[in-house]
Amino acid sequence: MKPDREYAKDEAIRQFLRRRRSAPEKIDNEQLTAGSPVSYYCVGCEILTEVLPEDYLFAPLRYCSQCQGLKAEGWLDAAQDAFRQGGGAPTSSSSE
Ligand SMILES: [Zn+2]
Repeated sequence: MKPDREYAKDEAIRQFLRRRRSAPEKIDNEQLTAGSPVSYYCVGCEILTEVLPEDYLFAPLRYCSQCQGLKAEGWLDAAQDAFRQGGGAPTSSSSE
């Protein structure tokens, strides 16, 4: 039986893969007209984290709460490796 921490890591990585797979198509902020709200995505799993007005004052989050946790535990690299090694969509037909 795996120790709790190992189990937590596996589960955290599984959830990461699920988020990463369901991450939305990114909006290219460069293409937006002036004054449009700007979308920010998690650097880890790429889910949408924030939509802010162009003249926001404070730096947006770089990581979603879940990836922040992964990072704090030192598991984010392992999660991203898992995604690169085929944890992603098995069929590469994500382009529509
Ligand atoms: Zn994330």
